[in-house]
Amino acid sequence: MIPGPIEVDPSVLRAMGEVTTSHVAPNFIESFGNSIELMRKIWMAPNGQPFIVAGSGTLAMDMAVCNLLESGDSALVISTGYFGERYKNILATYGANVTVLQAEIGEIVPLEKIEKELASKDYKLLTITHVDTSTGVLNDPEPIAKLAKIHNTLTILDGVCATAGEITKQDDWGIDIVLTGSQKAIGVPPGLALLVASKKAMKVWKNRKTPVQNYYGSFNNWLPIMEAYEERKPSYFGTPPVNLIRALEVSLALIDKEGIENRVSSHIHYAKAFRKAIQKIGLQLVPKRNEIAANTMSAIYYPDGVDGNQFRKDIGEYGVILAGGLHAEIKAKYFRVGHMGAITKSDIVATLSAIEYALQKQNYNFNFGESVGSFLKEI
Ligand code: PMP
Repeated sequence: MIPGPIEVDPSVLRAMGEVTTSHVAPNFIESFGNSIELMRKIWMAPNGQPFIVAGSGTLAMDMAVCNLLESGDSALVISTGYFGERYKNILATYGANVTVLQAEIGEIVPLEKIEKELASKDYKLLTITHVDTSTGVLNDPEPIAKLAKIHNTLTILDGVCATAGEITKQDDWGIDIVLTGSQKAIGVPPGLALLVASKKAMKVWKNRKTPVQNYYGSFNNWLPIMEAYEERKPSYFGTPPVNLIRALEVSLALIDKEGIENRVSSHIHYAKAFRKAIQKIGLQLVPKRNEIAANTMSAIYYPDGVDGNQFRKDIGEYGVILAGGLHAEIKAKYFRVGHMGAITKSDIVATLSAIEYALQKQNYNFNFGESVGSFLKEI
């Protein structure tokens, strides 16, 4: 129950285990082409250009920047934690003039602050972390994208801990790049960088004055490959991870069959019931308000006097694995629970039971059984 890599549907794992085929075999070309088409549906980006490249989510972050940004451009990072900091470093690598609007821990950056900053300078692009996995804070990208549009600033949405678990309407919202990695709510083992670029993003890339300062991640190399696979033609730039892409096809088809809106609704439903259960036994979330708490994961403070390492060890007795803290300033004070992808009610019941067991072992004062009872009533 960590916030990625998540456990994947058995049919996705079985797809990983199929015979490794050639990257130009007709069945693989079909899987690649289908995956590209399915991404447009899951991203709600009928006009977008998907990219599927071997690498982790960080490569997708890197590709978004290296293709759109030119040295000396100004870029704005709207940071809600650890992954905002990562975007600052990536942008600096490509010579951007970076400004960071840093939210306090557990908060978002107020819209007025973003608006003021966008009006103060000619920003080429801004980055938003949809769900920052270090704080469990959820941003609403829509109003930020609206503001960016007014100021002719491109928007990049880091959806690594969100896409396919939080509502994402790339075209409607006018987001220029929405990116993720395969190992989170997309429901595939780690290894794929996934992104969808808007028509405007592709135009900005095409009209660059300077060459892309990255070889492997350049759209110059990958766009012809994506176009060829979509036309069901063989092509080659770098050998694609064929088993992972077949698994991606299976997982995207599962999400599409359920319907992306239904999939997101069930994440919201589980997350709400989970938060309520946790709060019922007196635990406090890192996000300061429920409205900005993620639906794919939760970041939760240990109660005073509870030793985090012992707590996570005790939880292990129930076969549940949770993640420790990631945000440097509060690292030892909280833990993280992933509740995205193919998880079930039973997974959450087992998690709450294990949490209660570990808390009781450390003499935390609460009504034993109350979080589980609350969850069962809600769900
Ligand atoms: N952004 C966010 C919000 C993430 O949660 C992560 C991974 N935890 C990344 C970016 C980086 O992805 P990866 O570890 O796959 O490179």
